[in-house]
Amino acid sequence: MDYKASEHIQDLQYFGEFGGVNPSISDSSTYTFLSAKTMFDTFEGNTEGCYLYSRHSSPSNLYLGEAMAQLEGTESANVFASGMGAISAVVFQLCDTDDHIVCSRTIYGGTYAFLKNFVKKFNISTSFIDITDLDMVEQSITPKTKMIYCEAISNPLLEVADIAALSKLAKKHGIPLVVDNTFSPLNINAAQLGADIVIHSLTKFINGSSDCVAGAVCASSDFCLSLKDVNNGAGMLMGSTLDSLRAASILKNMRTLHIRIKKHSENALYLAQQFEKDGLKVVYPGLESHPGHKLMKSQMNPEYGFGGLLTLDVGSVDQANALMELMQTQKLGYLAVSLGFYKTLFSASGSSTSSEIPMEEQEALGLSQGLIRFSIGLDNNIHQTYLAMRSCMEKLGILNLSPSAID
Ligand code: PLP
Repeated sequence: MDYKASEHIQDLQYFGEFGGVNPSISDSSTYTFLSAKTMFDTFEGNTEGCYLYSRHSSPSNLYLGEAMAQLEGTESANVFASGMGAISAVVFQLCDTDDHIVCSRTIYGGTYAFLKNFVKKFNISTSFIDITDLDMVEQSITPKTKMIYCEAISNPLLEVADIAALSKLAKKHGIPLVVDNTFSPLNINAAQLGADIVIHSLTKFINGSSDCVAGAVCASSDFCLSLKDVNNGAGMLMGSTLDSLRAASILKNMRTLHIRIKKHSENALYLAQQFEKDGLKVVYPGLESHPGHKLMKSQMNPEYGFGGLLTLDVGSVDQANALMELMQTQKLGYLAVSLGFYKTLFSASGSSTSSEIPMEEQEALGLSQGLIRFSIGLDNNIHQTYLAMRSCMEKLGILNLSPSAID
């Protein structure tokens, strides 16, 4: 893949009102018109460069939207008040009552709950399937299916979706492929591989400072405009609008995304390799033992690595909890959900971000209660971090190394 997303983002140039190096922040919910006719035309969607009301669009949100479109190489992008705001808007924009969705069975718990429970109110049904089984994906498509939905790297199992193959299937059946690329911004350019609509929770790596929630939808200009339509747009009418101040701060953080992603990936690969050598049950797409390793290599941008997420199965929820508490006291990170922070964040997915998935389904997926999801931080000395983590595991009897094995 040769799409140079970070260069496109760096090349975006907007001057602030007084020549500032950052664009001015729009501090208005509403906008004046010099003529009543222009206001009418703007309502009809016929005026370029005019702003009506900030739930519809604002200069700051458009700047961030443009950077997101550059990230994925799509024609356009809209920003939202959260990742779930983006996901729910896409689902309601594409589906009517009685429609159907084919969705990966391993996805973020909130998305799972939304598709499994919430959309039932509208009689929208979802088949949760193994997205790596392309025959099963195709067999699950019905005349009522309105999209194939998956995560490029899944939460929390880190399963890798074959975006090009899924895109081919989706095209064959005339439906869009929707990919949540939250775990792998820059690592994977989902739209370049054939995804029609790419969703991001900006809350995570893209903002990278764990100080706000936000989301984005990257897609064609037509789809992005449809989301903003004053009569039928799910973005406009459901109202999950991002505040302009936040849009401006996320845009500023996004300019260092390429550096951060490289470091997150470098640190995660180092830890995963060491943990694997120690005989731990570690899952990371950068390890040859990962079932999606070859696929990941074929669809990633190598300079950004395999991403910042890894999982470790320590056997039981009690062991997982004890390890996370100990690591936190040793200042190795925070026992917290979410990802993409400069500090390592860890949580036991089964009892936190995937707790919406019933226990039997978690078991069927292979999501064990002892599984800890790590979002690896930007530690400057990752070898030292590794030694300290290993010492925590030894203390708890999770790891038994002979003294000779310790370098
Ligand atoms: N998609 C993925 C893969 C996530 O992990 C999350 C949140 O954890 C979301 C979407 C939802 O994003 P937000 O919390 O910004 O609504």
